[in-house]
Amino acid sequence: MLTFEQARQEVISQLSKIKRAAATVNLSVWDASGYVLAQNLIADRDYPPFDRATRDGYAVRASESTAGATLACIGEIRAGDALTEPLKRGTCIQIMTGAPVPPGADAVVMIEYTSREKEFIHFQQTTTKGQNIVPAGSEAAKDQSLLQRGTRLGYAELGLAAQIGATQLLCARKPRVAILSTGDELVSIDASPGPFQIRNSNSVSLAAQIRDAGGEPVILGNAGDRIESLGDKIQQGLQEDLLVLSGGVSMGKYDLVEDVLKTLGATFYFDAVAIRPGKPAVFAMCNEKPVFGLPGNPVSTMVTFELFAVPAIDLLSSAPARPLQFLKATLGEPMKEKSGVTHFLPAHVQFDSCEARVKPLAWKGSGDTATMAKANCFLVVGSDIQTLAAGENVNVLMRRGVS
Ligand code: AMP
Ligand code: MG
Repeated sequence: MLTFEQARQEVISQLSKIKRAAATVNLSVWDASGYVLAQNLIADRDYPPFDRATRDGYAVRASESTAGATLACIGEIRAGDALTEPLKRGTCIQIMTGAPVPPGADAVVMIEYTSREKEFIHFQQTTTKGQNIVPAGSEAAKDQSLLQRGTRLGYAELGLAAQIGATQLLCARKPRVAILSTGDELVSIDASPGPFQIRNSNSVSLAAQIRDAGGEPVILGNAGDRIESLGDKIQQGLQEDLLVLSGGVSMGKYDLVEDVLKTLGATFYFDAVAIRPGKPAVFAMCNEKPVFGLPGNPVSTMVTFELFAVPAIDLLSSAPARPLQFLKATLGEPMKEKSGVTHFLPAHVQFDSCEARVKPLAWKGSGDTATMAKANCFLVVGSDIQTLAAGENVNVLMRRGVS
C-alpha cells in the first residue's frame, strides 16, 4: 500500500503527463484573484522609477549634515512633484515620503532627528550616505521578468501586476471538476430525508474545496449504487477536466465505483493509501481523464481531497503542485494511535505568542462532521508512531482557508 507521499507523487507524475495546451481566459486584474497566470509579466520601467524618499524629512548631502551641523532649508518636494534643479551645496530641502530625491542629495534625514529655527535645520545625528533613499531601479529593472506563467495570483501578485500596468491578464481557464456522489441512501440537500436517508453533503463540501483550490465545480448530483446509473453519470463526468466521486470505493457488496471504472477501461494508480481516515482512496485515468474515487465518509472525503485532488487541480491549471503546508506544534495532551497508517486527526491549533500548541479533538470517526467543523488543522501522526507524550513536537497540517 502506498504512503500518502507516494500516492501524491503518483498523482503529480500522472497529471504532469497530460499534454495539452491549457485553455486560457483574458481577465481584468480586478477579477483574476485565484487564477493561474498564463503569460510572463515584465517591468514596464525601473522600480522605483526615481530615487525615492522613504521618510518625511530633509534631503541632504550626508557629508554636510553630520551631528551638530546646520543647513538652510530652501524649499520642499512633495510626492508627485517634478524635479527642477539639483540640491545646492550648503542647503537642504524638505522632502515627503514617496517624493523624488533631487540630484546632489545622497541621504534623507528623518524630521524626528532634526530641529528647526526659521529656515535653518539643525541635525542631531550622524547621517549615512544612502539612508532613507531607495535608488531608482533597485527593486526591479525595466524589462525584468516579475511574474512567470504558472504563478497563482493572490493579492501580492495582483498588486504587482497593477503596479506595472498589466490591467488585462492572460490566465489559465479554471479546470472544470465534476462532482459525482454515489449512494442509495443519499437525498439532495433540499429534500427532507427519510428516517434512514442522509443529505448529500459531500457534493457541497467538495464544491467548496474545489473552488478554494482554484477549480470550477460541476455538480452531477448523485448516482445510485447500480452499475447502469453509475456508468451513465461517470461517462458524463469524464467530459470535464477532472472527475471526483465520493463513496462506493470500500469493500461493501454495493461499492461499485471501481468495477464500473474498470469496464470503462480505467487504469488504476492506487486504490488504497496507508492513511486514516481515507484508506480506500482511488486514483485512476479513464479516457485520458483523471478520476478520484474518494471514500464517502465526509471527513475521509475532505482529507483525501486535500491530499490528492488539490495537486491535480494545480497541474490542470498549469501551475506547479502546491506543497502540503505542515508546521510543527507542541502536543497538548498524550495520545495513542494504531501504527501502520498515517493519521490525519481533526485537531485545533492555538497560537500563543510564537508557539503553536495542538490538541486532537475527541471525535466519533470519519462521519463526524460536527467535530470536523471545529477543527482548524489535522494532527498528523506518522505510521511508525504509537504513543505520543504531552509536550512532544508534532506535525500539523493546517486547513486551507480557515484560521
Ligand atoms: P461509502 O464510502 O459509500 O461506503 O459511504 C461511507 C459513509 O459515508 C456512509 O455512511 C455514507 O452514508 C456516507 N456518505 C457517502 N456519500 C455521502 C455524501 N455524498 N454525503 C454525505 N455522506 C455520505
Ligand atoms: Mg456508499
